[in-house]
This record gives sequence, structure tokens and C-alpha cells, in this order.
Amino acid sequence: MQSTIVTSCHREPLGRGFLALLGMTLLLFYREVLMAQPQLPQTMAETSHYLSTSRYDDVMAFVAAIQRLDPDVRVETFATTSEGRALPLVIVGPPGVVDPASARASGLPVVFIMANIHAGEVEGKEAAQMLLRDLVSSHRKLREELVILIAPIYNADGNEPISTEHRKTQHGPEHGVGVRENAQGLDLNRDYMKLATPEAQGLIHNVLARWDPLITVDLHTTNGSYHGYQLTYSPTLNPNAPAEVIDFERATLLPEIRAAMKKKHGKETYYYGNFVDQLSPEKGWYTFDSRPRFGNNYAGLRNRFVILSEAYSYIDFRARVDVTYEFLHEILAAVKSNARKMQKVAAKADEQIRRGKLRKLGVRFEIKPWKDTEILWERCVHADSGHGSPDPWTEKGLIQRTGEIVPVKMTDYGIFVPTERSDVPFAYLIDPAAHEAIRTLQTHGIIIETLTAETKLDVEQFVIGEATRAEQEFQKHHELTLTGKWKSRSETFPAGTYLVRMNQPLARLAFYLLEPRSDDGLFAWGQFDTLLDSKIAPVRRVQEAVAVDATVTR
Ligand SMILES: [Zn+2]
Repeated sequence: MQSTIVTSCHREPLGRGFLALLGMTLLLFYREVLMAQPQLPQTMAETSHYLSTSRYDDVMAFVAAIQRLDPDVRVETFATTSEGRALPLVIVGPPGVVDPASARASGLPVVFIMANIHAGEVEGKEAAQMLLRDLVSSHRKLREELVILIAPIYNADGNEPISTEHRKTQHGPEHGVGVRENAQGLDLNRDYMKLATPEAQGLIHNVLARWDPLITVDLHTTNGSYHGYQLTYSPTLNPNAPAEVIDFERATLLPEIRAAMKKKHGKETYYYGNFVDQLSPEKGWYTFDSRPRFGNNYAGLRNRFVILSEAYSYIDFRARVDVTYEFLHEILAAVKSNARKMQKVAAKADEQIRRGKLRKLGVRFEIKPWKDTEILWERCVHADSGHGSPDPWTEKGLIQRTGEIVPVKMTDYGIFVPTERSDVPFAYLIDPAAHEAIRTLQTHGIIIETLTAETKLDVEQFVIGEATRAEQEFQKHHELTLTGKWKSRSETFPAGTYLVRMNQPLARLAFYLLEPRSDDGLFAWGQFDTLLDSKIAPVRRVQEAVAVDATVTR
């Protein structure tokens, strides 16, 4: 008994001690594991239960936390705002992809996701942070096949004056949002051509020109017509973009993403548009604009793919964050599975220009029916005065929503066609005093040369008929419209005259910026104003290929 007791007494403490030791070891081990895998950061939207959106400092802290988790994630500053905020570009790819050269060497497609260009439209900023977190945790494998660039807070200055007075028809976040414009009062999504803001200059020069993303995704919120889609989207709308790029987006990429949104998430999405009359949807669904001052239209002129995303502002903030986040994931999945085809289409578009296949492009455009289709309409009815609110798109009449979503057959006015075309020359010559225009062309990444000696050339001059300035100010400009005719003559140009050859990949963009009749070019934006005292516009066209002595200007 004694010995049994002793034995048992002896055994008992040993057993307890062993278990305690084991427990302690396991605890320490578990703590080690926990320490090795620190908590994933949460967005401001998540921690506030979707009452608030992130401020600039919140986004910067989130990105820093991601970098602590994964030192392979890199961050560049692509611009500094007029209020002095450094705009982060987060680079997430396979180890070793640290800059544009290593990205190109990897052969992987570069996907650029930008959010918050309009700082009242905030869910893209939240969804982009959530996606970034997935790329260092649940979706690391995507980084073996894609290089992903994220600019989560493009309009950082506009983001900060958060108020509940902004975007009052938008359903949350309850604690308010920022403003549309940057600190200069300019709309960054009208600044892609003239580049009047430090934000746009940095975006174009340091992201689009430097990294050359295969596809750009631009995240917004729409408060237009009442329809049945949680999110609408748009490809590039300017028909001067390469037809193969446009066709691939419309025939393959966007339909695949739309189908995945429906199948995997049960959500309806469609091309962006508005009912021309909310009470009579059969009158048609209209997209917005073809001018490249808008980012989606601009990207096409660089021969690259683009998706404009517009979450529906009448669903709540959390639902908008969710649908934007899901849309981003489906875009990445679709780009991954179509990567080689998309790279081929883009490379072919560049190559056709190098081989001088561009002949004529549009300078003026009009909207056109694309197809007859069924579009999800929210039934609305006439309202008496005192009830209801104006049509959200046309701002006319008084209407009341019913909440009932019905498919209606109508025409989708979803494309544009040129109403006026112009010849694409062998090269443009530009007056040596056109300093502002030259700076803008260079920021776009267009290759500029200067004549090394006085040169006599057969050229076309644009003889100005009328020069009309818009009465209404827009983005601090009165846009200029020129009429006139191209006339051939022989002319001698001094050394230092600028030369833009049109066999460079950005020829579509150069054409758009330099044609005097262009609806969104540098003439329209006043960048040649100081040189308009003569009837001859300060650009010439060299129509036929000719040997010219010139050196590249930087
Ligand atoms: Zn917007």
C-alpha cells in the first residue's frame, strides 16, 4: 500500500509535472506561431463596422502593416500632391520583381488598380486595401502569375476634408466622405490629357509610362439612374483605341467577368450607362463620353486594356465595398486566364504602329447605338409635387422609386464613332517655342526629337479659319475649338524644331494631343495659346516618310 502510495505519490507529481511541461511547451510553441503570423491589418471600414472610410494616414498605416508582414511588398511614391501628401504605389508580385525592368523581364502581365480618383467615391479605396491583404495571405499564389500595382488613394487631398455634406444621395458611409476634386479644385478624371495636376503628371509619368500596365482598373461610385446592377463597368470608349483591344474587352474579358460575378457572387453587373428618361426606359441606355480626358478612354490610346468600375451608390457602403472587392478578384482571375492572349493583342497593336499601319484616326465623335438588349430597370413612377425627387440623371421632373427591378428591352447606346477623321502623318513638327505642349507630351512618355540642323521639308500647314473659345469655364479653362484646312507647301525649319515621329507606340495619343481639330488635344486645352497670333497653327505634318537628322530630347 505504502509502496503503492509512494509509487503512486511519486507517479502523480511526475504525471502532473509532465503534463504541465507539455502544456507550457505547447503554449510557447503556439505563441511562437502566433508571433510569426501577426494579425492581418483591418481597414478603417472594417474596424468602424462600415461607418467610416479610411483617411490618408489610415491607408499609409495599413500599407506599412502589410509591408511588415511581407517585406517583398514594395512601395513607391508616384506623385506628391499640392498639399504635400506622397501618393503610394504598392507593388505586389513574385520575389525579384522590384521595378519596371524586372517586371518586364518576368514576362508577367502588370495589372494596375487605382482607387479614390473621386474622393467621395470611397469603396474602391477600401476594397483595394482588402485585396492587398489577400495578396499577402489567402491569395499569395496570384503573385506567381501577375504583377499587381495598387494606388489605393489617388486623390489623397480630396479624401481628407471628410464631411457628411458630401454626396448626400450616396448610401453611406455614415460618417461622411471626401470631395471629388483635388486641392486645386480640379477633377483628376478630366486631367488625363492636359496634365495640370501633380497627381496626374505622376500617374502618367511614373505609373502608366514607366510600368506600362497591360490593364488599368479605375474604381468609382455612380449616383446616376436607378437600375438593377450593383456595379457597372466600361471599357475604353474612344474608337481611336486599337480595334483588337476594344473587341477583346467587349467580346471576351468583360463578358467573362460579368458571368463570374453572377455565378460566384449572385450579383448583376453590366456596362455603365444611364436611362435617358427614368420613367421611359425604352428610350434607351446611354454611356457617357469618348474623350480621353477620362482615364478609361485615355488608356486605350496607349494600346492597353482598361476597366472603369462604378459601384452603385444607392446600395449601402458595405455592399459597395463587397461588390467592388469581388469585382477586383474576378478581374484578376480573368486577366490571369487570358494573360497571353491579352499580351499578344497589346503587342500587336504596338507593332502595327511601328510598321506604319495607322492611316486615319478620328478627331470628333458621336455616340451610337451598340445593340438592342434587355437592361435591368428600377420601375419609377411620376410623383406629385412635395413627394419624390428629380430624375437622378436628367435632374428633371419628380419621380418616386418602387424598388421593383424589371428587365426592359431597349437600345444600348454604348459606343462612339468618328464624325470627322484626319490623316496620321509620318511625323509632326512643333514650334521650338511650344514649351508647355512639349512638357506635356514628354510627361505622357511620347518621344520628342529636335532637328539638329536647318531642314527644308514638304509639309502640311493647318490654316486656321475660326478660333472659338467656350463661354463656360471648365476645369479652369475655356476650351478652344479651331476650324481650318491642311495645305501643302515646302518650308524651312530651324535647328531645334521639335519632331514627333508617328511610328512610336504612343502615336495614337500623340495624334490626339497634336491635331488642331482634336476634341481633347493640347490646342483645346490652351497649351498652344501663346503661339496662336498667326493664322498658321504651330504644328506641321510631314506626310511622307523622309530622312530627317534629329536627336532625342529629354
Ligand atoms: Zn467617379
